[in-house]
Parts: sequence; structure tokens; C-alpha cells
Amino acid sequence: MFSVSQCFSESYAEARGKFCAAAADGGGALRSWLNPKALGPGGEKLCLDTAKFGPADAQNMLVLIAGTHGVEGHCGSGAMISWLRSGGPAKLPKGTGALLIHALNPYGFAWTRRVTEDNVDLNRNFVDHDKAYPKNEGYLAIADAVLPKAWTEESKAETERTFAAYAQKHGAFGLQGAISGGQYTHPDGIFFGGHTSTWSNRTVRAVAREELSRARHVAIIDFHTGLGPFGHGELICAVSPGAKSFGRAKAWYGDELTSPEGGTSTSAVVVGIMTDAFPQELPDAQVTPIALEYGTYSVPEVLNAVRADNWLHHRGDVASELGRTLKADMKERFFPAGDKWRDMVWARADQTVGWALKGMAGG
Ligand SMILES: [Zn+2]
Repeated sequence: MFSVSQCFSESYAEARGKFCAAAADGGGALRSWLNPKALGPGGEKLCLDTAKFGPADAQNMLVLIAGTHGVEGHCGSGAMISWLRSGGPAKLPKGTGALLIHALNPYGFAWTRRVTEDNVDLNRNFVDHDKAYPKNEGYLAIADAVLPKAWTEESKAETERTFAAYAQKHGAFGLQGAISGGQYTHPDGIFFGGHTSTWSNRTVRAVAREELSRARHVAIIDFHTGLGPFGHGELICAVSPGAKSFGRAKAWYGDELTSPEGGTSTSAVVVGIMTDAFPQELPDAQVTPIALEYGTYSVPEVLNAVRADNWLHHRGDVASELGRTLKADMKERFFPAGDKWRDMVWARADQTVGWALKGMAGG
């Protein structure tokens, strides 16, 4: 018997140790990719770690990804370690392997942030940087309210007024889209897509080429948190509903599957998401990507924590008392304390992995 709560970790360093130990115990082949651009808050090295299971020539590959959005890695890491400790590798069907990608954005995981060391949201960074960036007029209208000069009661009230006025005109989901849809104009803002490919972007592409080039079917489950009802895991397929990969995902996951473009998801439509890299790097494989997005708290509470964290790193002091308070809030919003939420995370992850394996076997 394994304990689900013990598979989750309170820090990146703890998660990394547990992941590597569980992967080794499960017979996985481990590799580490060192991020040369940053260290953790304790001076620790920051690595993206991968663990591979199954035959070297496996045609079907299950790919689990944790920490695309840094702090959300607490969830994905816990789910992966639960999979390992519950005997997941031994239960893989014949001819099927698994690749676990742990801490895709190790800086964000270690520092309790969604973004990378470049302040970049990875799920907006996988655009073609040689082309014109998507426009986000809404963000331009609220950018000053997103990052106020000071973090005070007055500045918070001022921001509330600006957001309320915007929502009055464009609706609550319109406001969510303006804030979280992604922007390429404010490097010190939130949901910034970057002006070049980040280290995590280049690294995950290399991982895909080096670890998955022999696969014919690649089923990706990318773990996220922060949107939807508490503990519920939404299966989001962010490719166009007309795409072949969307059709496969629909066949595997059924009506559980949601689509931002189709208007059935809690997520705003975003472009340049991380999982786009896989079909680009693996042109001969059929890639079926979903995000498994777990709800935590309300959208305003989550976005407020993201905004506060952004202010803290640009204009505040992470080591101050206010800094510690804002960091604790940030962690709770993306990784709720207590066993209940974690139990729900694993139950849904276990179910979803089962559907992905069944889907690949039938396709
Ligand atoms: Zn996310």
C-alpha cells in the first residue's frame, strides 16, 4: 500500500528527491537537464528530470508532464509519484512505454511562480518568434492595474475598480481573457509569452527528439492547476476542434474533453502552448495532447495571487514579511493544503492515464 499524501511535496527540492527515488525504484532510466540560468531559493541546482519506462522500441508512449507552470508542479509531481508508487510502470500494456517529464520549468517550481526565470509563461512561449505576435488589446487597457507601483490597500482597490469597469464592458470571461490570454508587449507583466524560446522550451524539444523519436503514438497528459471547481480535473484539448489530434482525444476521453476554442472550457483561448512542440519535433508520430487542469480557488483569487507574485519579483522584496505572505498565498492557490485535494488529484489522474493507455492500444 502506498500513501497518496506522501507522494506530494512541499518544495521543489523535496519533489525532485522523491521523484528520482520513485522512478529508480520503478526501474526507470533517469536523465537530468540542468538549467544553467538560475538556482533555487536554497541555492539548489534546478533540473528538468526525465524517467523512461518500457521497451526501447515502444510504439506507444505515455508522456506525463509536471511543472510547465512551475508552482503547478506540486500537483503533477504528486500525481506522477503516485503513479510510480502504485505500480504504474509494471502495469503498462505490452509494447507501451512511458516518459515522465518532471519540473519542465524548475525555476518556477522552486520559487513558487508560474513563470520561468525570464518571467515567461511557457504556455504562451511556443509561438513562432520570427512572426508577428498575437495582439491582446485588452491587456494594454489594464496593464498598469496588473502591475501597480506599490502593493497597498489603495493600489489593490484601484486595480479592482479598473478590472470591474473592464468586466462591465466585456464580461467576466472577457476580463479573464484579457489578463490570461497571453501578451507579448509587457515583459514585466503576467502571462507574458516572451520574445524568444526559453531554456525550458528548447529543452523539452530536445527531450522529445531524443526520447520519443521511435514512438508512433504519443499520449501527453500535461498537469495544471488553478482553473475550475476545487479538486475537479478538467481534460482540456487546446488544439483546434477540427484537427485530427482533437478527434483522437475525443474518441479516447469522450464528453469529458473540453475545448477552449469550442467554448466548453474554463480556460481562455491561448496560442503557443508547450504541447505544440511535440508534433513539431515528432512529425512521424500521432501526438494526442491534453492538459489535465485541476481546480483550486476562484478565478479572481488565483489571478490576484499571480499578480501579487509578479509585483513581488519586479517591485517588492521576496525575503520580506509581505513577500513571505504573498508566497504562501501563491502556493495555496495552486496547491491547496490537506489530503482531500491531493486524493482527488490522484483519483482523476489514475483514471485519465487509464483512458490514455486504452485509447493508444485501440488506435
Ligand atoms: Zn497551468
